[in-house]
Amino acid sequence: MAQVKILILGGSFAGLQIARHIRDYMTSDDVDITVVDRKSYLLFIPNIPLEVFDGKDPNTTLQLPLASILDKDGTHFIQADVTGIDLDNKQVSILPSERPGAAADVLSYDYLVIALGNRLAFDKIEGFAEYGQTLTDGFYGNKFRHYLYNGDYKGGPIAIGSARFHQGIKGKLDFIPEAMAACEGPPVETALSLASWLENHEQGGPKNITIFTPAKLIAEDAGEKVVAQLLELAGGMGFGYKNNMRDISRITKDGIEFANGESLEAELKIIFPDWVPHAFLIGLPICDETGFVITNREMRNPDYPEVFAAGDAAAVTVPKLGSIGHHQSYIVARQIAKDIGYLDVEEADKELYNPEVICYGDMGNGKGFYIHSNSWYGGETQILKMGKFYYDLKVGFKSTYFMMGGKVPHWQWKLGTWAGDKV
Ligand SMILES: Cc1cc2nc3c(=O)[nH]c(=O)nc-3n(C[C@H](O)[C@H](O)[C@H](O)COP(=O)(O)OP(=O)(O)OC[C@H]3O[C@@H](n4cnc5c(N)ncnc54)[C@H](O)[C@@H]3O)c2cc1C
Repeated sequence: MAQVKILILGGSFAGLQIARHIRDYMTSDDVDITVVDRKSYLLFIPNIPLEVFDGKDPNTTLQLPLASILDKDGTHFIQADVTGIDLDNKQVSILPSERPGAAADVLSYDYLVIALGNRLAFDKIEGFAEYGQTLTDGFYGNKFRHYLYNGDYKGGPIAIGSARFHQGIKGKLDFIPEAMAACEGPPVETALSLASWLENHEQGGPKNITIFTPAKLIAEDAGEKVVAQLLELAGGMGFGYKNNMRDISRITKDGIEFANGESLEAELKIIFPDWVPHAFLIGLPICDETGFVITNREMRNPDYPEVFAAGDAAAVTVPKLGSIGHHQSYIVARQIAKDIGYLDVEEADKELYNPEVICYGDMGNGKGFYIHSNSWYGGETQILKMGKFYYDLKVGFKSTYFMMGGKVPHWQWKLGTWAGDKV
């Protein structure tokens, strides 16, 4: 009998975790798994700010090679751009991306997992290329690191915040709120750790920095109680705070102009953009009107049950947080094992999508913060902790992740959250 073919698009947090977890249930004799990514490595994005403030190149410290890790599981890796999906014929078009000039090719599947993340739409922000800074990948991380360590910052005002996020409504599950910003952990973390960096380099501190948000409340997904605590602390330290800015209209040499008509003077502008779905997804019947993939709580598309999504590409991932993608990846692996008959229905369905915000952030000086909250989705949990232990957890998670080749067992993840809550 022909082997079942599982095609996983994207080899970052969501895709790698799914590929590796499926092997808990099915060997390479049972199913044929292929992962496709345009890059040959995973970049451990959440630790980019930490490495940059430490003066390190994130591309030398945060890359995990995909092919060799997947090969140990008997899983294939193809380095290629995904260019289209033919849902009716169960085929995906690719363009190999190792060398320019490659010919387009087609892959077929029985199960398809879309874990391609999103475009971070800096190109939609006027003036970003000339005047903006950010920390979302190796290129921008290094650009900002050189700016800081070359002494280009002259001590003027700093603005840190997000552009407006555009979420789809079609097929939205009731318990998923509408967000104005895609992910506001990074601006909060950047503000806290940059303030420490400025103090340590005698270039200022929190008073130089204004944090802004398009929403009524920054990091609203963390829960009102947690945000109130954060704002009280930040206000006490001297940070400025501007809310309801609606969107970034334009970045100029002297500052930022916002959609609500206000502007902020800033020498340094650190921006987190809109998280936008990939163009080839827009218009597919599995997607909402913006291009995020619609799923149910099994992370399965209701109209195409052989199609799953996880991580930032899924419409239900709000905010766009790696920890949410981690949980979804575990669900996808178990649902596929259920479909193929390697896990019984009751066991697989024990774990369905039930979002929680879990975030470990760096604050500089060896301290970190920890947020665990589900109140935005109607739950009761709202925990904020700070201290050295949470920095150690953040750094420790990266080490464990690399040591285990991107496969952090779900029990270990739960243990980390338990420790975060209790300590
Ligand atoms: C600065 C920063 C800090 C963050 N900190 C945290 C944190 O502390 N905790 C946390 O939980 N989350 C954090 N996040 C969010 C987290 O990084 C994302 O939620 C996570 O990376 C999403 O994982 P993913 O696998 O869904 O998508 P991605 O990580 O975006 O990966 C998508 C993959 O698909 C590939 N790809 C994309 N398009 C194509 C294509 N057409 N063809 C082939 N391959 C393609 C890409 O190369 C990539 O490997 C942070 C984000 C940023 C920007």
